[in-house]
Amino acid sequence: MSRMPTDHRGRLALAAEAAGAGGLDALIVGPSADLVYLAGYDPPPLERLTCLVLRPGSAPFLVVPRLEEPLAQSAGAAELAEVRAWGETEDPYGMVRGVVGGDAKRVGCSDRMWAAHLLRLQRALAGARFTPASEVLGHLRAIKDKEELGLLKRAARYADEALGRLLQTRLETRTERDVARHLGDLLLETGNDEVMFTIVGAGPNGASPHHEPGAREIHFGDAVVMDFGGRIDGYCSDITRTVAVGRSPSELPHVHEVVMEAQEEAFRTVAPDVPAQEVDRAARRVIERAGFGDLFVHRTGHGIGLEEHEAPYIVEGNDEPLRLGMCFSIEPGIYLPGEFGVRIEDIVTVTGTGARRLNHASRDLVVVR
Ligand code: ZN
Ligand code: ZN
Ligand code: ZN
Repeated sequence: MSRMPTDHRGRLALAAEAAGAGGLDALIVGPSADLVYLAGYDPPPLERLTCLVLRPGSAPFLVVPRLEEPLAQSAGAAELAEVRAWGETEDPYGMVRGVVGGDAKRVGCSDRMWAAHLLRLQRALAGARFTPASEVLGHLRAIKDKEELGLLKRAARYADEALGRLLQTRLETRTERDVARHLGDLLLETGNDEVMFTIVGAGPNGASPHHEPGAREIHFGDAVVMDFGGRIDGYCSDITRTVAVGRSPSELPHVHEVVMEAQEEAFRTVAPDVPAQEVDRAARRVIERAGFGDLFVHRTGHGIGLEEHEAPYIVEGNDEPLRLGMCFSIEPGIYLPGEFGVRIEDIVTVTGTGARRLNHASRDLVVVR
């Protein structure tokens, strides 16, 4: 999937080491962003078990269905791990037990492993306690290397460009669905490989943060929330802007101003070693002070990389310190039920001197046609 010169061997070694440091006997990683990150391997998640098995101090194993052995080989995964192919009538869970050892006490399992597999792995390794692999891999994946940062910057630039081009067209009288589709086309035209999602919420629909774009027509005087992302070489973008169409609803400029200030305050709080929750608190303080505290109904942000949502989560209760190279969204919002919503979202990265934005589209309230 990826064309960059990624050091998978280094990542595999670090992950095995981190598993050991976390008290795990093994990490079992199924088809997911974790597997792409560790081994550059992106097989389809299916009812047949595929998994990478990492153990501290030992070489990695890749358990694959026999018919997917050529796939693992062509992806280069077979060079990174010892391949154990299983035939249709063999028991792959027993094979994993053979590799991990029946006496394993603690095992990490990738968060996106299907229950069908996890339940059988738990039966095969009956003496082990299972924990989510993200407790170990989340920390590794959260800190982006130079190649990853380069791709995230590119993805953000394409998202900025898609927005810029959309806003040159007329939104009034079009449906949310039509605008969402257009945004998707623009995400591909600007250079993305894939469209991840497009949310367009007009008028009262903007007050539902994850609104599904529908047949609602965009009217003169609507606030419109647009939240969308694409993907290039595996890495995602995610941006939100709120615009007014024709004329701004009377309360919109004030609410928009508050959200912009909250976003800016959160941005200014970012620095190495600052606990993630401090960034959430900074945004929330501004919104609470303006009297809209109850209407900011979600966390301030989430990490981004091979997945749209990953560690670090910018939320109260997460006291993990921010680190150089982390990338995440800052996306406060205020949602007035029955009226409109406002959200402003940028992806930022942590540098030695604070945060740097990867998105550069204007955050000012613009009135478009
Ligand atoms: Zn969201
Ligand atoms: Zn978003
Ligand atoms: Zn987001």
